[in-house]
Amino acid sequence: MKLSQRITHLTKDGGDGWDVFYRARRMILDGYAVTELTIGEHDIRTDPTILEAMDLSARQGHTGYAMVPGTDLLRDTVAARLQARTGVPTTRNNVLITPGGQAGLFAAHVAVCDPGDVGLYLDPFYATYPGTIRGAGAVARAIQTTAEDAFQPRANLIDAAADGAVSLLINTPNNPTGAVYGRETLDGIAKLCRNRDLWLISDEVYDTQVWDGQHISPRTLPGMSERTLVVGSMSKSHAMTGSRCGWVVGPEEVIAHLINLATHTTYGVPGFIQDAASFALNAGHALEEQIALPFRKRRALAVEILNAQNTVGLVPAQGAMYLMLDIRATGLSGEEFANALLDTHSIAVMPGESFGSAAAGHIRVAMTIDDERFCAALSTICTFAADLAKKQVAAT
Ligand code: PMP
Repeated sequence: MKLSQRITHLTKDGGDGWDVFYRARRMILDGYAVTELTIGEHDIRTDPTILEAMDLSARQGHTGYAMVPGTDLLRDTVAARLQARTGVPTTRNNVLITPGGQAGLFAAHVAVCDPGDVGLYLDPFYATYPGTIRGAGAVARAIQTTAEDAFQPRANLIDAAADGAVSLLINTPNNPTGAVYGRETLDGIAKLCRNRDLWLISDEVYDTQVWDGQHISPRTLPGMSERTLVVGSMSKSHAMTGSRCGWVVGPEEVIAHLINLATHTTYGVPGFIQDAASFALNAGHALEEQIALPFRKRRALAVEILNAQNTVGLVPAQGAMYLMLDIRATGLSGEEFANALLDTHSIAVMPGESFGSAAAGHIRVAMTIDDERFCAALSTICTFAADLAKKQVAAT
């Protein structure tokens, strides 16, 4: 039987570079001790106080169908959080609660793209981006950013690729590069969106993980609140990856249509999860800081280790739970390096290439293991790279 092009072509360019990840998982299953620095998941679990709120809600009966747009409490809480942080007037009518940020990214593209429209995204990119855009029926078009620009996008390059585009997807703080887009970058992007009449889909799931600089939501920029859809999530800010709770914030008209879409797709998010999310958000900054702290600490430790050598380059790690390391001095591709590192030292990292061609010659290191093992692994990566670089020089 024939299947749709939409489903069979979802990840037509995907798969590359994930071999290392699956090989590491296989080695673990076979009993090897592998240091995994691959995926973006905290080494702590959801805070017990959040679990208590979840348990209480479920026991009080919030286990039936919840309101499809989200509970009033959570929509109000998310609206207040965004308004407090951005100054943009926001009410529950600007908020749809989704089963995680990923469902929000998909819904946002369905809301603005017709079949055949071009959805723009930036390379390097979070793994699901092209498939999410294609899943919405649109054509996914990547625009390169460069290590030399510290992976800050340039509006003129986006503009040059924008013919036929209806949307631009950005992510700051960025996975996989750790870049936090500065005001100048965002002003350029905002101007381009206004000139080209583009929707801006702003993935802000790492907004509580900023180590250097400041998170600016593009929804705050002049003329942008009416054309920006912000995607947020409890996954990273509150270590609630498995709870699947996120949101889309945007103009009321878009949210009204997205509620209709949710009625015909997800039918909402469990009420006890939403109550736990409301509790967690209302616990305020202190809890978010506590959850971000291990990454802040490890990032500082990593900067120290990397500053003490000169083979491996660190892309400015301004935010999110990853380091993007430049290993081009070894003469290997990111994939070759990652495979060799796994074989030689049983350390698993993601090849830059698995996030797009712009990250070739890089590896992404997730800061998601305890400080001691993290520092040891990073030191090993540096020595391994230095040895490879020496061999490379000797061979030329
Ligand atoms: N956007 C980015 C950039 C991510 O890294 C992730 C998860 N790794 C998501 C969105 C989706 O997160 P979730 O669906 O868990 O909210």
